Amino acid sequence: MLKALSTNPNIKKPPSQFVSKPKLLLHTCCGICSAWIPEKLSLDFEVTIFYFNPNIHPREEYEKRREAVRQMSEILKIPMLEGEYNPRVWFEKVRGFAGEREGGARCPLCFEMRLLRTAEEAKKFGFEYFASTLTVGRFKPAVVINPIGEKIAAEVGVKFLAGDFKKQGGEMESQKRGREFHLYHQNYCGCVYSLKDRRE
Ligand code: SF4
Repeated sequence: MLKALSTNPNIKKPPSQFVSKPKLLLHTCCGICSAWIPEKLSLDFEVTIFYFNPNIHPREEYEKRREAVRQMSEILKIPMLEGEYNPRVWFEKVRGFAGEREGGARCPLCFEMRLLRTAEEAKKFGFEYFASTLTVGRFKPAVVINPIGEKIAAEVGVKFLAGDFKKQGGEMESQKRGREFHLYHQNYCGCVYSLKDRRE
């Protein structure tokens, strides 16, 4: 049986239900990322989850992670959109960076691609903000991701909600929720290169 999510002590009390909240499109890359952050942000925003991750290899892995996000979307009653899965475009974007390790020069390009697409969708569908759960990951530095988001926000004309979700227990809470809900939990970042590194 599912726990009442609002009993979580790490989550602030919601503002009055009569106050309208700004709409936020939240890029999300896996079930664990979706286990806690969308609910936390829902206190202040009208959140829609956006699953756009052409970096993930292979397709079966992409689908497993998407299914875990969908599970959380249903549990939290937060709507979810999915972008197209076109790994070829991702490979074009990171061409020449195959030899980089996770955290190296390939990753900012990968972040940029996913954030840019989120901002464009946000603009198209009238969201005031866009954001990403990416900073919840231990190897996803906010000092790298937030400036990319800010730059894209200025280019596209949608506000970026900067943050560092791994802080203040965010990483632990997301992992804990993932276990509670028996979500699929991947053991590599996502792309074929990170899978290869993990296997080695
Ligand atoms: S290691 Fe992760 S963040 Fe870096 S390029 Fe691969 S999928 Fe993207």
